[in-house]
Amino acid sequence: KVRVRFAPSPTGGLHLGGVRTVLYNYLFARQQGGDFVLRIEDTDQSRYVPGAEEYIYECLKWCGLQPDESPLAGGPFAPYRQSERKELYRQYAEFLVQEGKAYYAFDRPDELESMRERFKTAENPSPQYDHNIRMQMRNSCALTFEETQRMIADGVPHVIRIRMPENETVTFTDMIRGEVSFHTSLVDDKVLLKADGMPTYHLAVVVDDYLMKITHAFRGEEWLPSSPVHILLWKYLGWEKEMPQWAHLPLILKPDGNGKLSKRDGDRLGFPVFAMNWTVPGTSELTKGFREMGFLPEAFINMLAMLGWNDGTDQELFTLDELIQKFSIDRVHKGGAKFDFEKAKWFNHEWIKRADAGRLKPEVKSIFDQHGIAATDDAQLEKVIALVKERCTLLPDFVEQSRFFFQTPQQWDLDAIKPKWNEAKQTFFGDVISYLQQQSYWNATDLENGFKELAAAKQIKPGEVLLPLRIMLVGGKFGPGVFEIAAIIGKEETINRINLVLQ
Ligand code: GLU
Repeated sequence: KVRVRFAPSPTGGLHLGGVRTVLYNYLFARQQGGDFVLRIEDTDQSRYVPGAEEYIYECLKWCGLQPDESPLAGGPFAPYRQSERKELYRQYAEFLVQEGKAYYAFDRPDELESMRERFKTAENPSPQYDHNIRMQMRNSCALTFEETQRMIADGVPHVIRIRMPENETVTFTDMIRGEVSFHTSLVDDKVLLKADGMPTYHLAVVVDDYLMKITHAFRGEEWLPSSPVHILLWKYLGWEKEMPQWAHLPLILKPDGNGKLSKRDGDRLGFPVFAMNWTVPGTSELTKGFREMGFLPEAFINMLAMLGWNDGTDQELFTLDELIQKFSIDRVHKGGAKFDFEKAKWFNHEWIKRADAGRLKPEVKSIFDQHGIAATDDAQLEKVIALVKERCTLLPDFVEQSRFFFQTPQQWDLDAIKPKWNEAKQTFFGDVISYLQQQSYWNATDLENGFKELAAAKQIKPGEVLLPLRIMLVGGKFGPGVFEIAAIIGKEETINRINLVLQ
């Protein structure tokens, strides 16, 4: 059975790339009738950030990409938080030492520091702990068996490092990149188990993917350089046959294609790179999110899916169900995908247009609440949403586009009508009021016909009085059809608004 995982470290908000990794995992799992696991990789206590885990849950919920197994939902392979699995990893590290594939290293931080000083050269300013240097350090490869045993018995702090082989090539098949090879001489002896007994990411990710029976591991391209370590661990632990299929997803690039999209690009260019707002705990440093900026999750997901994938046709708009049907990892591009905020907004606009008023109502209501607009009549609110949604790109646009339905304008763009205002128009609008007062049918079509007939009778071109009517009802030169507006705000309020400007 297909089993995939998203394995974030709780170090902050989720950026676009992270959510796209979730999405591709989710789509693949749903399509294959498999399981989608969320595993929290929190073994690096120094990078742990409070609130980051809750943020991940909230984000997955907002996106509608709920995992089948997680620390919250539980599942057959619980616990799903690596810090709670701490005791489990040591045995595998010890096994690797017995097999000669790993070793104890007793170096103190100052010894590591002086090693870097001693071996650094112009070409290699930060030398790695590798096969060249290994024998010159304090570890069980360089020390005798007795010395090693004694130091362990004495409780000398130590880590366990993988012993990277010299002059080997590690090759594997990536579902996106095809065959990928690494020369082991270029990879250092990564720490597997830390002095405090916590595994590092490298050990934990392999052990947990194995124990949790993960069949496919999709993750960002930034993990590609770590893959030789992981592949060797799978082999050394004797699990090669169970190794998942790998897919390293392309980077999301800056709008100009010059390097990886970063938080700073968002700040500089004024667009979000996180899914939701994120505030660094204990600071007021806020990174803006797509949710708060007014994106619909449907649009956000759709936009993300297209950053690195397409179905081979020109289709760009997909529901989540369509994505589940059509997604294929072979169609994920190798090259990075440029992020384009204008395009992201286009997706949102399209999704707002397509959504029916009932779907948009909860989001619009909450934005109205934030802006002190009281929309108490649900049926009326739905009519308004249906009428203005085409004009809205981001959800907050609903405020400007529909505030006047609920609140009488207090300011009017009179400059737009003043130059051409005259006695005849003043009289005409007086007649309009009398006309409106007599109407017992109140709908857009009748109002429009009546208004035009009245203008014709007074020998005024309707075109000359429509803009003034709009300014009276709306306050500005925007909004949907002016008679539709009158129909919704009602007779009394329409007359009231005309009067306010006429006086
Ligand atoms: N914990 C890693 C991260 O923070 C997971 C990488 C992987 O999926 O193997 O992204």
